Amino acid sequence: MADRIVVVGSIALDTLHTPHGSAEDCVGGSASYAAFAASYHAPVNLVAVVGTDFPQAARELFGQRKVDTEGLEVVEGQTFRWGGRYHEDMNRRDTLFTELNVFEDFHPKLPDSYRSSEVVFLANIHPALQMEVLEQVDAPRFTALDTMNLWIDIARDDLVKALGCIDLLFLNDEEAMQLSGEGNISSAVRALKAMGPKSVVVKKGEHGAVLFADGNEPYVQPTVLLESVVDPTGAGDAFAGGFLGHVARSGDASAETLRQAMVQGTVTASFTTEEFGPDRLVKLPEQEIDARREVLRRISAWPFA
Ligand code: AMP
Repeated sequence: MADRIVVVGSIALDTLHTPHGSAEDCVGGSASYAAFAASYHAPVNLVAVVGTDFPQAARELFGQRKVDTEGLEVVEGQTFRWGGRYHEDMNRRDTLFTELNVFEDFHPKLPDSYRSSEVVFLANIHPALQMEVLEQVDAPRFTALDTMNLWIDIARDDLVKALGCIDLLFLNDEEAMQLSGEGNISSAVRALKAMGPKSVVVKKGEHGAVLFADGNEPYVQPTVLLESVVDPTGAGDAFAGGFLGHVARSGDASAETLRQAMVQGTVTASFTTEEFGPDRLVKLPEQEIDARREVLRRISAWPFA
């Protein structure tokens, strides 16, 4: 039986514009993508908030993926809404709007049954809320945190405090430079580790991700280069969800497990980008996951004897 993973983060209704079209009121948010991705590997306990306008059909997606929603609060009012527009180069996007709505007064409350969860993922939300969750779990064996440039800008002190309490930090290369004040990835990671996390994963979009695990050489993971990227929203959250789902399933956080987790994260993230919102991510056949892992094995092969 896999360990259980608590995921806290945002649940959103997203409006998305990409060069392939537009979609309105897609189920989104960091917690949704991470929970769906992790659910392929381990039991997921969700902590988040939605408004009374959150559609029943959207809620059922969590049920379909067997995500436990006892920790999902439903509050009178509107669900968090986010809008984004991608450029022709889909590595670039502009935020069109962020409406906090029910998030404005949100304070996560963990059901008693979640407190003994072994793995904790603090997906992207205000770092003070991430800290509130950490304070409510008993003694997790592995904790990880994801963040974004907004919190580095407006809540740096809260973020630095949370970094002092976690095992692993996910962030992209720009955020790594911004948070550390360093000019290259290696020195940025050294500075970030000095703030607390033993391991750091630097995400580099379609160029893959690099794991700097405690006391080990960096591990570079390429991605599956797809021609059919339709909507990259949530890829980072799905990466982290797949990664931590594997850590939960494995029951340890050895260097080998973390490298395997890089593969699982990459695989789930790649599927996420193939359709709008989480449409693809919520219905992945196991054989397709296995087949894509095989693709990664082939493209990662060392070319010398
Ligand atoms: P990603 O593409 O991995 O950066 O994740 C995009 C998701 O993050 C979208 O589904 C948004 O709803 C959600 N999101 C955007 N801004 C925020 C924010 N300030 N706090 C929490 N979640 C956010």
